[in-house]
Amino acid sequence: MANRAKVAWLYLILSGFVLGLILIISNNPRQFKWLYSSLSMSILDSPMGLMSMILILFLLVAAFFSTLLQMGRDKRIAKRKTSESIDKVGKTIRIYDIPSGTISFSPSRPSEISSRMSMLARRGETGIVEFLDYIMAAALKLRVSDVHIEPGMSEVALKYRIDGALQTMVTFPSQLLDRLVSRIRILANLSTYEKGKPQDGRINLCLKGRHYDVRLSTIPTLHGDKAVIRLFESHEHDFDLRNLGMLPEIYEVFSGMLVKPQGTVLLTGPTGSGKTTTMYSAVRFILEHVGSTTNIVTIEDPIEREIPGVNQTQVDLKHGLSFAAGLRSLLRQDPDVIMVGEIRDRETAEICIQAGLTGHLIISSIHAINSAGVFNRLIEMGIEPFLLASSVTGVLAQRLVRLNCNVCAKASVPSLKSLKSLNIPLNADIKFMKGEGCENCWYKGYSGRVGIFEILEVTPPIKQAIVQKVETSELISLARNQGLIPLRDAGLEFIRRGIVDVDELARVAG
Ligand SMILES: [Zn+2]
Repeated sequence: MANRAKVAWLYLILSGFVLGLILIISNNPRQFKWLYSSLSMSILDSPMGLMSMILILFLLVAAFFSTLLQMGRDKRIAKRKTSESIDKVGKTIRIYDIPSGTISFSPSRPSEISSRMSMLARRGETGIVEFLDYIMAAALKLRVSDVHIEPGMSEVALKYRIDGALQTMVTFPSQLLDRLVSRIRILANLSTYEKGKPQDGRINLCLKGRHYDVRLSTIPTLHGDKAVIRLFESHEHDFDLRNLGMLPEIYEVFSGMLVKPQGTVLLTGPTGSGKTTTMYSAVRFILEHVGSTTNIVTIEDPIEREIPGVNQTQVDLKHGLSFAAGLRSLLRQDPDVIMVGEIRDRETAEICIQAGLTGHLIISSIHAINSAGVFNRLIEMGIEPFLLASSVTGVLAQRLVRLNCNVCAKASVPSLKSLKSLNIPLNADIKFMKGEGCENCWYKGYSGRVGIFEILEVTPPIKQAIVQKVETSELISLARNQGLIPLRDAGLEFIRRGIVDVDELARVAG
């Protein structure tokens, strides 16, 4: 926009200059003899010369006004789809309304989406607003978790992450990258001039009256800025603990831990295994069961979804609000239940474990190889085993497995390798099903995901083993003796039902 303003000024100055020249020359022909002599042909002597000067003047004035009009249009476009709201830490978030007519396609025809995208990309800079509208609307409709804009040497790839796997939707010329990323930056209230610097922002996306919280991050790469837009999977389910995929036995134990007045409940699993969804569902469960008499607070990084009735706090390192600092402050606010996004350091771990011992229910997540591994991880962080044993009531480990596409799933013979890695006997009485791939599932054979869970309940014998700092493997076998259902056995139930295939479970939990 600043460039356009400069150009408009230039046109204005030039036209003033030409007008001045015409006036001076036509009024005082005699005084400008030196000009006549310096020019090989006198302008006034030939009517054509004067005419062409007036024409130049006219063109300059026209160019000036057209640039002004263009500036106004730019402003209107930026304004048209954005209004603003204020977020929890006082930052302004733009509300970005996508015209509802943007998605008039049927979701069962993904090939149509790709061809519509390349059509919009071919319109170049003039179609950038509609292109982004379409990218976001299609992503919401297809339940995409992340949109990647990846610059390459001569082309940019637009990818969607669907059910955990990346899928290239369209490639477009590199010349469009800057405009597209700038447009996203404007929507996220980020500076468009500070290129070559990582930036993070938020957008409140609105489609057909529904609001979606969207995160944007950009990072400079060899061929330009790479942008990733995270659409939280909040629309996948409404955070209902019963809909996550827990076996009834596991649901029973886990929900039992959530209604206790104190203790620490920990979740573990790799990134993208659905821990956050489970934590939100747990909070919602507590809210429904004991919510009216309970003060529920959270400290999160980031707040992925607003839960009415819960006091959510966002980690803000710029203002000294770390997990540990936030927790200390929250504990002075008379909380009953505290959800801590993640335990990353010793200080946070210490406060959580301590709070779980002193009349608070703590729900948090921590990285570990499996449910039993959480204890040694915390001991390595410097937490006393006897504190762990008394504070932690249970650990829930989880993974996400892709579901067979219900359009193309057929009976199939699984690979021996996968059967072996899951300890499934060859002669097992199971009708194995697997998706063959069809248009509904982007020819992948999978559509949607479900969680598989393993819960380790801290019973008196487990407590004793933790205090004695036994090896993780020993703790697992002890827990199995106590009735722990391992992840793979929980997944086996889905294989029996024909909704998950053996290779997929072997990939995730084999
Ligand atoms: Zn299919």
